[in-house]
Order: sequence, then structure tokens, then C-alpha cells
Amino acid sequence: PPPPARPHALVIPFPAQGHVIPLMEVAHALADRGVAVTFVNTEFNHGRVVAAMPAPPRRNGETAAGGGGKLGMGRNRIRLVAVPDGMGPDEDRNNLLRLTVLMQEHMAPRVEELIRRSGEEEAAVDGDGDGWGRITCVVTDYNVGMWALDVARRTGVKSAAVWPASAAVMASILSVPELIRDKIIDAQDGSALTQEAFQLSPDMPVMHPAHLAWNCIGNDEGQELLFSCVLAGVRAIDECDYILCNSFRGAEASTFARFPKIFPVGPLLTGERPGKPVGHFWRPEDGACMLWLDAQPVRSVVYVAFGSFTVFDRRQFQELALGLELTGRPFLWVVRPDIVHGDVHEYPDGFLDRVVASGINGGGRGKLVAWAPQQRVLAHPAVACFVSHCGWNSTMEGIRNGVPFVAWPYFADQFVNRAYICDIWRVGLPAVADEKSGMVTKEHIAGRVEEVMGDAGMRERVQAMMVVAHESVQEGGCSHGNFDMFVDSIMS
Ligand code: UDP
Repeated sequence: PPPPARPHALVIPFPAQGHVIPLMEVAHALADRGVAVTFVNTEFNHGRVVAAMPAPPRRNGETAAGGGGKLGMGRNRIRLVAVPDGMGPDEDRNNLLRLTVLMQEHMAPRVEELIRRSGEEEAAVDGDGDGWGRITCVVTDYNVGMWALDVARRTGVKSAAVWPASAAVMASILSVPELIRDKIIDAQDGSALTQEAFQLSPDMPVMHPAHLAWNCIGNDEGQELLFSCVLAGVRAIDECDYILCNSFRGAEASTFARFPKIFPVGPLLTGERPGKPVGHFWRPEDGACMLWLDAQPVRSVVYVAFGSFTVFDRRQFQELALGLELTGRPFLWVVRPDIVHGDVHEYPDGFLDRVVASGINGGGRGKLVAWAPQQRVLAHPAVACFVSHCGWNSTMEGIRNGVPFVAWPYFADQFVNRAYICDIWRVGLPAVADEKSGMVTKEHIAGRVEEVMGDAGMRERVQAMMVVAHESVQEGGCSHGNFDMFVDSIMS
């Protein structure tokens, strides 16, 4: 009999930076276990990812990016494929609701075609000399929408969903019927019926109805539509064999115990895979900041980063600059080109001269970068404290490297992540806005940094979590075992 087809997974991230990075990690974890991977980005993001990658070594049979939207990656067995998202070139891709709706319309048929035609690609030869073969499994970001699972069902391939945030937030989605029953959210559009926080179980983080994902990305017209997708997702997930979560049992033990359908497989981090492509959108990663870090004393630096799409108003941006100055500590601050409303970076008078510029007049104490190699930064021994917006990836990366936090959330699940960091794991302190001005003041920022850096107990706790996180993804660890089990199931 012919040998069984090699498993071939189609991996689909939601088109945002905080999703493409962890889904690329899942792709690597699959590839490491012998699964061929086709990774589907939107055309828009594909272009950014490829532009930000180091120039690929050209090998036999590989096509460069752009030519058919493919990029062969030889032994890694991951190829990148681009599919249009249906948005015009100048449309606002931060309009997540519109993007979600358009993706369903435009990407679903293309992805289906990709799966159906994948068998015909036997003739296509990659760098190792064998073909890619039929796609046997769809591994989709849960946030992409249920169309991806529907496509898998229609084409007769297996499917799994990846949840790139905390298990607690996934649990809140699985609990939507109970939230409606308990009159916490509205049955029609999911909006908050109460200002009161709730807990899914006594040892899970406190959540606020207004911070539930659909209440953050929806708008008045789109809210019902969005929530109908959420409800469809809750129903469809029953048909899915696995929900893989980029978390680890030690971080969210009670959630995993109560929601056994969610499997921890993390923290999966690209930083631990030197030389492999990682799916970043921004170029260039500023390698020079690593040299700057090398020159700083051990455990002296404050690392400040707010993820890929948090936007500051001008006053808060300036106050943060002054707060960092006030710490008197060396700091590495990620200032994305689009981090301030209107894309204008106005630093406080003299700030750049006093703190950032090096040389006779400048202190050179602060280093600004447009995009940092964050995982390598957090792993650097000079880094002592992470001022973070508490995106889940950043949260896992801080934990994985044993760095305590000043927690400064803006949006959606970041508030739940803050509850984990500050209240449950006790590895950080919250940045709290002043009631009158609505701003996090410079004195408060500097004070919190000092408190966190001076708290030996906090450092011990985060270092203990670091060890647990590390062990969970090693051979014999829980996350590692779960991933193996998942791969066995798609191999069979
Ligand atoms: N990141 C990075 N360099 C930066 C800032 C962020 O590599 O200068 C990465 C970070 O390591 C993380 C991702 O971007 O993997 C951000 O994801 P997260 O979930 O923390 O936040 P989001 O961008 O989704 O708000």
C-alpha cells in the first residue's frame, strides 16, 4: 500500500501582530514534529512579514516572496501563502469588525480552493526534494472566525482552533450562554447589562463585562453582527477536537481544570528559535539596542513597550517620557511610528537632549527604538522591569524571562491579564490613572518602577513562574505533552 500522506497543516492567524507571532510559533512546533505547514497570511500582512524577514537563502525550487506569494523555507517545512482580505489598499485595517466581516467573504473561498487544490501540488518540489502533498488539517486562530472550521468540515480535513490569549478569556467566551442567563450580558448584542465585575469561578481572575472582546471591537451598527459571530463560534467549537491555548497549566490551573476542552501548549516563544522567521511586521528590529543593553549593568534597565497597536494621546505620551526620566534609571522604550494619535511624537522640551542623546550634553540613559527584538530584550540580564500594556504575548514573554511588570492595560483582555499579573500571580503592580486628570502621572510611573524593582518577593515569584513555564514546554512537561498528543491525533 502507498505510504500514508504526510500530515500537512494549514495554519491561519487573525491578521494582527499579536496573533501572527503566536500562530507562527504553533507552525514551528508542528514543523518540529514533522508536519508540513502552509501558513496563510492576508496579502497585506504577508508583504509586511516578508519585508521584515532577513533575506532568505535561495535554494533549489524556492521562490522569493512576491512570486506567487510563496516563500519556501526548506527544512523548516513552512511555506508562506498570501490571500487577499477584501479590503482596499488604503482602508483602515484597525477596523477589526469590518476586517472580520470581509475576511469571511473573501478569504473563505480562497482558503477552500487552497485545500482542494493542495493534492494537485504533488509535482511542486520544495528545497528538500519532496512535495507538499494534500492539506490534512486546518489549524485556525479562533479569532479568524468559524468560517475556517466550516471550510475544514466541507473539505473533509481535520480541524483545531488556537487561542492565542489566556485560557480565562477563552473560558469567558465558552461561558457566554451562562453570562446571558445570569443577566451579565445582553442576549442580542452581548453588551454589558451591569457595571459589576464577575468571576467564572472563585479562583479565576475578575472580569468586567465592558472589557469582553466583542464589547471592545464592536460599534453601534456592527455590535449585533459581531456578537452573532461569537455565538456561532461558541456552538461551532463543539465540533472542534482541540482548543490549543498559548498558556501553561501552572499559570491558569483552575481554568484548565474547569474547562478541560482548552489545552495548554505554551508558552510557545519564537525567541527560543534562533534564525527562523517569526512573522514580525516591523522593520528593522533594532539590533543596536542589544549592544546598548550589553553596556548596561545587570538588572538596571526598565523596558517599556505597549505592543503593536496601543495608541497614546499626546499628553500621556509626554507624561510617560517624563516619568521615565524621573526614574533616573536606564530605559529602553519602544516608540512605534504610530504610537501617538496623529503619528506625531512630541517629546517634552529638552527630553531628547537630557536623557536620550549620548555625548557631552546628553545623558544617553534612555534608548528609543521603533520596534525591539522584544523576546531577546526580555531575556537580557540587564533588564529589570517591564512596563507593559499586558498583551498576552508580552505577558507570557515577561513571565518566561522572569521579569516583573508595571501593568498598564488599554484594551480588551489586557485587563484580565493585569488581574493575573497583579492579583493572582503577584508579579507586578498596576499603573493607575489619576482620578482628576485621567492620566498616569510621571510621579506615579517613577514610583511604580521603583516599587517593582525593589521588591525581592515579587522577583522571586516571577522567577519561580519562569521555571514552571520553561519546564512545561520541555520534553516531559505538560504543554509539550499536550502538543505531542495533538500532533499524534492529526497524524493518525
Ligand atoms: N513585540 C516586539 N517588539 C516590540 C514590541 C512588541 O517584538 O518592540 C512583539 C512582542 O514580543 C509580542 C507582540 O509583539 O510577541 C505583541 O503581542 P501582545 O499580545 O503583547 O500585544 P498586542 O500587539 O497584540 O497588543
